[in-house]
This record gives sequence, C-alpha cells and structure tokens, in this order.
Amino acid sequence: MKTISRMGRPQRRDRLVRERVHDPYRAREKPTEPARCPACKVAWHKGRWQWADDSLQDARAELCPACRRVRDAAPAGLLTIEGWFVPEHKEEIVGLVRRCEENERSTHPLNRIMSVREEGNTLEVSTTDIHLPRRIGEALAKAYDGRLSFHYAPEDYFLRVDWRRDV
Ligand SMILES: [Zn+2]
Repeated sequence: MKTISRMGRPQRRDRLVRERVHDPYRAREKPTEPARCPACKVAWHKGRWQWADDSLQDARAELCPACRRVRDAAPAGLLTIEGWFVPEHKEEIVGLVRRCEENERSTHPLNRIMSVREEGNTLEVSTTDIHLPRRIGEALAKAYDGRLSFHYAPEDYFLRVDWRRDV
C-alpha cells in the first residue's frame, strides 16, 4: 500500500506541471543562443525560434521543436476534412490548406503541416502545433460553410478539429 501511494504522488505532480507548461516539445530548458535547426534552418535567437539570415549559419545545431515532432511522428493537431463535398473540391481545399500554412509559417515558424493524407472522401491534415488546424478549420468554414468542431485535450496538448460538408 505504501508503495502505491508513494508512486501516486509524483504522477499527479507531473500532470500539473505539464498543464502549466503546455507544449511538452517546448517545455524543455531554453537552448543556449544562438542555435540553428539543421533540418529546417530555423534559428533560436533572442529567446525564440525564428527564421534567420545566414549570419547564424555557424550557430550550434539543435533540432527545433517542430522537427522533433516530425522525427517522433507526434503531431499536436489533427484536422479531419470530410464529407461528399470534399472529393469534388479537393484541389481548392488543399490549396486553401497550404495557403493557411504559408501565412502561419512566416510569423510562427514552428506551426507547420506534417502530412496531408487522403482516404475516400476524407483529407487528414496533421500539424506540429494546435493553432494551425484551428485556423485552417475556420478558413474552411468561412469559405464553404459546413460543420466545424473542436476537441481539445489540454493534458495531452492535442487538438482535434473536424470539418464536414456533404452537399
Ligand atoms: Zn527544424
């Protein structure tokens, strides 16, 4: 019995800590500046990850949080675009999805699409953050109406967004 209660306490504390720091991929100690991600070239500079010019090309190499999520195949967001409307408008929809990502990436370099998968009349978009799927879902609703819903699991730092239109 004693062992169980001792094991129980740290688990609760861990969960509280995780809720406070949010994204577990960004919660580690801040990297030493300057650092640069060898995979995508984003730089850790002046306290944040940002697109940088070549003056930082000799910076210490450190994989950025977005590229670590890609490496671990651990998305923070999942957007499901489904319904009979989707196959006929697939190119338009994918174009809208990509434009949303481009807009987001310039100011928030860690918010990216990891994959776009197609299955039947469903497109599934996974992302490295929880903001991009919400923005894309809202853009879809604005452009095509449909039904939009959000399911956020703060303890896992994971957002699922569903958008559906059938006619
Ligand atoms: Zn990177």
